[in-house]
Amino acid sequence: EAKSAGRDTLRLYTPALEERLAERIACGLALRRAVPDGQLRLHYQPLVDRDGRCMAHEALVRWQHPARGLLGPAEFIGLAEATGLIDEIGLWVLEQACSQLAAWRALPDRAHLSVSVNVSAVQLRHPEIVERIASVLRRSGAPANRLTLELTESVLQHDVDDVIRKLQALRRMGIGLALDDFGTGYSSLSYLQRLPLSAVKIDRSFIRDIDADGRDEAIARTIVQLASTLGLRVVAEGVETRSQFERVSALGCDAFQGYLFGRPQALGENVLSDPP
Ligand code: C2E
Ligand code: MG
Ligand code: MG
Ligand code: MG
Repeated sequence: EAKSAGRDTLRLYTPALEERLAERIACGLALRRAVPDGQLRLHYQPLVDRDGRCMAHEALVRWQHPARGLLGPAEFIGLAEATGLIDEIGLWVLEQACSQLAAWRALPDRAHLSVSVNVSAVQLRHPEIVERIASVLRRSGAPANRLTLELTESVLQHDVDDVIRKLQALRRMGIGLALDDFGTGYSSLSYLQRLPLSAVKIDRSFIRDIDADGRDEAIARTIVQLASTLGLRVVAEGVETRSQFERVSALGCDAFQGYLFGRPQALGENVLSDPP
């Protein structure tokens, strides 16, 4: 009885598991082709200052999948990290963003712009990551002090001393370091103080209901105070309404990002005739 139930379970379970595994392997194989076949795209989303002026753009990767259409990072970054493809993808993103930065430098109305690039904790573990970033900057001619790398608290999950050494080397080069999605991770405040950061980004989950939920506003206020104590700039992400903007602005945030100011979008082929 039990044996046959076990066999039934197996019969039902195995094909589904196999199918999922096969799907994942197929997806990994397809993702392997994404960089060499030119299927990755960067979208850019503006970051504005307290006066609403655009100061920077965040580069956000997309995958133009041959069969499934345009995929967001949530659909493939995890797989890229698990397969090690993130190193190649991350490098591609950095190269693209740095050549965009170099191109903006030549345009009087865009020369002031900075660019932010998301760097996964897995990428940071690569022993040559610092040299690779330095080399991309050198080859592109982009100024290091106009580049910000966005990290999440997950960088603290492995060899923190190694991470801190690498981040210090990047900071010495003049690169900005922002802690992304701040407030959602598990980092202790003592680690926050040890990381050589230049900014924190308040996670969009605290901004979403900030008008209705006093606790969210209290958390945002606390993050701003903490950042100010540590000498860090504060970015509010996910600002969708005028009222949210006024609230986070009153708390003292330095920069703002969200659909209110612009959605992530592809830049035109010609940066001169098609402003972001
Ligand atoms: P993130 O770095 O926190 O980027 C912000 C995400 O929030 C983006 O989603 C953006 O489209 C979305 N967003 C911006 N403003 C608003 C808003 O007002 N309302 C709402 N509802 N959403 C908003 P996206 O592009 O899907 O990226 C998701 C995440 O994927 C990013 O979160 C980042 O962690 C990761 N990611 C994106 N590009 C890269 C990359 O090149 N490398 C790595 N490692 N991760 C990346
Ligand atoms: Mg980010
Ligand atoms: Mg974020
Ligand atoms: Mg976020």
